[in-house]
Amino acid sequence: MKHVDLKQDPVNLIYEGLASQAEYDVRHFKSPVKRFRASEMANCSRQIAMRLAGYLPEPRPQFLGLVGAAGNMYHDFVRAVGRQHGMPIRGIEFKDGGKQDEGGVIVSRFDRKGVSFDISCRADGDIELELESGETVMAVLEIKSMNPRALYYMEKEFKVGGPLASFKYAQERKQHYTWQGNTTALLKKRDYVYLLLVDRGSAQIGLSTGGYPVPGTWDPTEAKRIGGAVWKVEPTDKTAIIDKATRITQIMQASKLPDPEYAPSSMQCKQCPFFYRCHGAEQRQANGLSPRYPVEGVIDL
Ligand code: SF4
Repeated sequence: MKHVDLKQDPVNLIYEGLASQAEYDVRHFKSPVKRFRASEMANCSRQIAMRLAGYLPEPRPQFLGLVGAAGNMYHDFVRAVGRQHGMPIRGIEFKDGGKQDEGGVIVSRFDRKGVSFDISCRADGDIELELESGETVMAVLEIKSMNPRALYYMEKEFKVGGPLASFKYAQERKQHYTWQGNTTALLKKRDYVYLLLVDRGSAQIGLSTGGYPVPGTWDPTEAKRIGGAVWKVEPTDKTAIIDKATRITQIMQASKLPDPEYAPSSMQCKQCPFFYRCHGAEQRQANGLSPRYPVEGVIDL
């Protein structure tokens, strides 16, 4: 064999394509439908308000474009494998040719403290669970594909402390998952959430007490396995969602934005598509400086 150099590696086409799409999206940005999304309810209130107010987001990073596409694929993968092996998944239509229909967007209207707002979700399905008491309940199915490193830490908790520890980890460290599940439960009038994790690296489903799946060294039937975490949604969890949306709506109706909830150096701010309009943007404008926007000619601040 002899190595050859390429004029352009074809993989670059993907990244160039994602970058062009991201630029196109911000150049042709349209204000979103004004309703809260289950997937954002754990976000900074100011970030949610900026999205609802139609602020132009920064272009989507290429890696997130790929993570989003892979996430959709893993949803279908988990449900297809689950169904094949008798997992009691409900609320999903499995069509010929492998296509799956989640049933579209669910929207509910709320009227609280003089304001009205809508909250929406796209449900991953439902799943029947038998509780330890023997009672059978229908839970919201929340599927999340995680990168191997993130999954490793949650699995570590499970190995040491069992299912309760993995639930606590989700509750404290994966609030995007728990708030999204709880919001979907609120809209679907369910009281339980079953978080089903999948490893984007190894395609393993759930958490295991066994070792990493290396052929010949790992017996999945000996390892204890769980989907990820399961919990009952308390009335206070549902109230917290409605209260947050109420507060954001009230502030916006007064033509204001909620205060920043995170420090500029935080991961939340680094990943926030409105960072360029936050943390001193008004002061920069007052000083004659424009807030930074990464695509030239799109926005004149
Ligand atoms: S930059 Fe940080 S504080 Fe500002 S809206 Fe985004 S997440 Fe919130």
